[in-house]
Amino acid sequence: MRIILLGAPGVGKGTAAAMLAQKYKAPHIATGDIFKDEIRKGTELGKKIRETVEKGNLVSDELTNAVMKERLSKPDAKDGFLLDGYPRTIAQAEEIERFAKPGLVLNFVADRKTIIARLSGRRVCAKCGAIYHVANNPPKKEGVCDKCGEKLIKRKDDDEKVISNRLDVYEEQTKPLISHYKKKKMLAEINSSYGMEKIGMIIRQCDDAIKKA
Ligand SMILES: [Zn+2]
Repeated sequence: MRIILLGAPGVGKGTAAAMLAQKYKAPHIATGDIFKDEIRKGTELGKKIRETVEKGNLVSDELTNAVMKERLSKPDAKDGFLLDGYPRTIAQAEEIERFAKPGLVLNFVADRKTIIARLSGRRVCAKCGAIYHVANNPPKKEGVCDKCGEKLIKRKDDDEKVISNRLDVYEEQTKPLISHYKKKKMLAEINSSYGMEKIGMIIRQCDDAIKKA
């Protein structure tokens, strides 16, 4: 099954994707990971991506399409894939139709309050990088890292205002894509407002959508 995953930051898409990948034996392919990997390896492509990102620009449709076409031609993606972060624009959505026609789009949605609560409750250890959550994964002693005893901090990115702004940007960017796939009757909405302890409820909705597609 060729599946596209859509969903705002903090919606729980990554956790669901990992489970679906295992269940359906399909690779979870995240464009951001591929880009980071190329930059880390210092390839020609990586250099181009780094230059673009450092200027604060988005990687062009042309470059993104070329990278994804190459990735999706690998043997592990032959029988299907879960795509994360691609396509991101209509031009990309039209291009993938030509080389790896997708069959289903799972759109993970949760109300804003839930997302903000999830992301703003995150705390990180400034020393060892361990991640906690005030509600879902609290440290044994409030504000102190279990692993190294250092003080936990709230990252600037996890500030409510910053999160809210990120969500606005995401929605604005994704709107055309949502209506594109709605028109094609490829879109299935997955309610991800459940806590991650009820991830089974989210996976069940995905299973139903996959069966129907
Ligand atoms: Zn620590």
